[in-house]
Amino acid sequence: MLELKKLEYGYDDLNPVINSETISFHHDKHHQTYYDNTNNLIKGTSLEDKSLEYILTHLEEADESIRTKLKNQAGGAYNHDLYWAIINPTNKKELHGELEKAINNTFGSFDAFKEKFVEEGLKVFGSGWIWLVKDSTGLKIMPTSNQDCPITNGFKIIFGNDVWEHAYYLQYQNRRKEYLEKWFDLVNWTIAEEIYTK
Ligand code: MN
Repeated sequence: MLELKKLEYGYDDLNPVINSETISFHHDKHHQTYYDNTNNLIKGTSLEDKSLEYILTHLEEADESIRTKLKNQAGGAYNHDLYWAIINPTNKKELHGELEKAINNTFGSFDAFKEKFVEEGLKVFGSGWIWLVKDSTGLKIMPTSNQDCPITNGFKIIFGNDVWEHAYYLQYQNRRKEYLEKWFDLVNWTIAEEIYTK
């Protein structure tokens, strides 16, 4: 059975960008539900003992009758695992190293990258995610709808931000742009660099 991990930091540790009320609803209710639904869907199937990563890259192994549901629920479970991990406030550093070089080479500067990431996140219509991903051609900013996950299409995820209203509405109401901009202050570039160079 797949299990939602406890957060590795306190519910007040992302203040003032994300308040504890938002975190507790988002992690304990929304994220938990994706895990519960995924476990129910894979119970008794060949995917029962597989990881979320495996499931999302082998969706064709799921029965057609549950495939879309599984993509949504396992995607929700996995995407949020990544979301909480990249904003871990422990040992946070400024952007540095290989990822800094790649961002500068690809987007011109960190500020230009941030501006584009925010702009693309703002453009996601309805619910979805905005990602920084990597493939053999380099870094890309990639939006996805609903809980679709870039690993299903072969991309390596560096990080992503959740633009579903449940991620920010309690605190920012309809101000998605402000949430996207402030969220950047939370990114743990030590972890991002580790992921990028792994
Ligand atoms: Mn969410």
